[in-house]
Order: sequence, then structure tokens, then C-alpha cells
Amino acid sequence: MKNILLSVLLLFVAFGCKKQSNEQNGGKNQLPRIAIAGLAIESSTFSPALTHEEAFHAKVSEDVFSFYPFLSPDSLNRKRADWIPTVRGHALPGGIVTKEAYESLVKKTLDMLKNDGPYDGFFFDIHGAMSVEGLDDPEGDFIVRVREVVGTKTIISTSMDLHGNVSWRLAENTDLITCYRMAPHEDALESKKRAVDNLLERIESGKGKPKYKAWIPIPILLPGEKTSTRTEPGKSLYAGVAPASIQEGIVDAAIWIGYAWADEPRNHAVVMVTGDDKEKVTNTAEKLASNFWKVREDFEFIAPAASLNECLEMAIASKKHPFIISDMGDNPTAGGAGDVTWTLTEILARSEFKSANGPSLIYASIPGPEFVEKAIEAGVGGKINAYAGAAVDDRFAPPIQLSGTIEAIEYGDQHAETEVVVKVGSVYVIVTKKRKPYHKEIDFTRLGLNPRETDIVVVKIGYLVPELYNMRADWIMALTPGGVDQDLERLPYKRIKRPMFPLDKDMKDPDLKAQLVPVSDHK
Ligand SMILES: [Zn+2]
Repeated sequence: MKNILLSVLLLFVAFGCKKQSNEQNGGKNQLPRIAIAGLAIESSTFSPALTHEEAFHAKVSEDVFSFYPFLSPDSLNRKRADWIPTVRGHALPGGIVTKEAYESLVKKTLDMLKNDGPYDGFFFDIHGAMSVEGLDDPEGDFIVRVREVVGTKTIISTSMDLHGNVSWRLAENTDLITCYRMAPHEDALESKKRAVDNLLERIESGKGKPKYKAWIPIPILLPGEKTSTRTEPGKSLYAGVAPASIQEGIVDAAIWIGYAWADEPRNHAVVMVTGDDKEKVTNTAEKLASNFWKVREDFEFIAPAASLNECLEMAIASKKHPFIISDMGDNPTAGGAGDVTWTLTEILARSEFKSANGPSLIYASIPGPEFVEKAIEAGVGGKINAYAGAAVDDRFAPPIQLSGTIEAIEYGDQHAETEVVVKVGSVYVIVTKKRKPYHKEIDFTRLGLNPRETDIVVVKIGYLVPELYNMRADWIMALTPGGVDQDLERLPYKRIKRPMFPLDKDMKDPDLKAQLVPVSDHK
């Protein structure tokens, strides 16, 4: 026992000396050097809203690690490499990113990368659905510019959201690539970890870049509200990804649904498989792609969906209250401007809601800073006649005139700043100084509203968040217009590849043969 203890002690001393000598060599050791960078946003080109640099809340250097619990200081992976985190930004969904914001963030990343090379590996952590003013395929542009700095020897591992887009250029310049396998994205961290694990494994084993990358574009464009992996056919389709990826000779397999609210040739579904066994790589990719194509007709909204008119008819006739209606097309948390007045205009035009004794309806919400100022002047109980909304997105309806009684004014909300409730006929309209999503019961009750006792509640949202879902007596999703219109057939696509399912009826079966993308250092 004593001997064992002594050997353990000696081992510690030996390792201690080794560490010291490494430090004496200027901290250089045999660990691979891996840089980290990435920008994540899904931005709609069908919304007039713009996204600026601040929205990305970019973290730099050591702060980047906070995104990755699997790279915490005491984690195994952290010790497997010398990590060089640069810039990582993550923005909520929104409108197109300004060219200025994109260039500034890319420049900061490249400047940091230039200072610290060379790199054995690069972890490229992106969403994949960023749209930038005057620039196609921003993530493809970004990775090319990274390659110019790091060179072609560095192994790049890209991690993405399954709602991202994979252009040929992105596929060509990355060596490893993967995306989430669940929607909602409960496996986001697990997927990012997989991208890092695969990168470390290929570097440590000396296997380097996978020999083959199969890429299959699939002419399908579907909204997220139809492609949850909790329900069929998404559930079974995605259940096939993990078994496909663990085969001998395969490094990873992935299916991208793609992003429907941008109008570029790269917006469509994609399958990619990487590995060293050519036949398995191509066969596996083709199998996943054909599985996707076979079930394309089976994707449905995860809750009943109808036109606003039909939704209102159902809600008015229903005995179930509150009857919640999702005003989906302008959902600010998916990329809508959040100030489209179309739905509210339609509601207030209906005779049922004209008198104070009509069915009670809460509308949440519409931004209107000038309206809020006038409401403050008039005070609670006062009368108001002023306009709100459509300052950013007035394509479907102009600013709406609201004439009624002020029921409440609240100050201090983090997002809205000031909130006003104005009663117009039997409708309680929430007008905010700044846009705010209404997702919690307390968002309503703090304004003196009681959504549980209200006949109809209309919220700018897509799929209901749990608190609203649990409150609902009934629920329907309204296909309303806006920057994230869920009725894709109404979107004015000009540049996506055609034919595209489901836009082009009776299209022929596409060629879903795997295309082998050249390895990144083939030139
Ligand atoms: Zn997503």
C-alpha cells in the first residue's frame, strides 16, 4: 500500500514537472489549437424591420465559453485543446441584418483570428438563417473569409440550427458539419458538443478531414410550425438521423428543414452526411433525403390553423373561454416587426365588437409610442382618439385609429416601458411604448386584465408558450399576414429555386442523388 502511494506521489511529481516545463516553453504543449467563432440569428427578408449590431450581444475571448457548459474549466473537453475563443454573437429572430453590423462583427472575428494562428481546428457555431442587406449566403461568405485567414489545413467543424440553410459554398469550406435533431431544440447543447467532440476526435486520432461529404438539396420549404419533431412525420424522420450517424465509416448525418422567410437560392431543405466510407456516406444521405421527400405531404400545423375570419367566427360561436387565437404572421419572436395592424383592424371592423356589451376580447399587443404619450395626458378613465402601430411594417394596413376609454396605464416593464389598455367597443387593446411579447398570465393581470374570464384572447405569437397553452379553453392559429406569414404560398418569393414543394403543385420527383462536395483543401 505504501509503495502504491509512493508511486502515485511520484507520478504527480513527474506530471507536475512536465507541466512546468511546458509552461517554461512559453505555455506551448502538444495540445491542438482550436479557435471558436460564430454569429447566430434567423432574419426575415419579408419584414421591413432591421437588425443592428447591438442585437447580437456579442461576447469576446473568454466570455465566449459561457455559451458552452461542455467547455467549462473543469470539463474534459476543455483540457483536450488550447482553445482560442474569438467572437460569438446571438440575436433574437428579427429583420434583415444591416451590412454595417455584419461587416463589423466579421471584421472583429477575423482580426482576432489573425492575431493568434495557426489553428489545428476551428469550431464555427452558427444558426444558418442570417440574412444581410445586399449579400447572399452570409454564412457562406463568413466561412470563406475565415478560410482566407486560417488556411485550408485547419479542420473546421460547423454546428447549426436545423432551420438554417446549407449552401454548396458552406458545405465546401467546412469539413465537419452537424445540426440539431430536435424541434423544439432541446438538444441544442448536445449538438454543439457533438460538433466539438467530432472535431477533437478527428484531430487527436490523426484521421483529419473526413474523406467524403455528401450534400443533397431537397426542394422542400416548410414553416417551423409544421415540422416539430414531437409529432409525425418529423418525429420518425429525425429519429432516423442518430442511427445513421453512428455507422462505421460515417462521422455525422444531418437534416436541415431550412428557413422559409428569406428569399435566396439557398433556402430549402438539405441532407448532409460526412465520413470516410464513400458508399456508406452517399447511400445514407440518399436514404435520409428520400425519406424526407416521401413524407412531405404529411407535414401539418401542430394545432388547427385557419384564416382570421374563420378563427373569429369559431371563437365568437364557441362556448369555450378563453378562446385563444395566435396572430402568427407578425410574431415578433420569429422575426415579425410586431407592429402590423391588419389583424386588429379586421377585429375592430366587425359588428360583434362595436358595443361595450359584445364578446370580450383582449388584443396583445400593438406598439404606439405617440398613442402612449397621449394616453398619459388623458389619464386612466379619460377618453382618447389616436393612432398606433404600422411604424415599421405598414404593408398590410396603415396605423390604426383607436377611439375609446383608457382602462389602465402601467410603467416600468423591461420591454414595453409603458403599457396602456384602451377599451374600444368590447375590445381591450394593449398599446405599448416599445414592442413586447405577451407570453405570461401576469403580463395581463398586472394591467388589470383577466384573460381567464375573457371570451377571446388574441396574441401575436405562433405556437403557444406553456403558460398560455395551459390557460386556453380552446386555441386556433390564424394565418395572418406579416413578416413571418405561415402561409408560404402568399409570400412573394422571387429568388428561391423552383420548383419547390409545396409552392409548385404537381412537381415531378426531384433527383435526390448525393453530390460529393470537394474536401476543403482540394485546390
Ligand atoms: Zn430553429
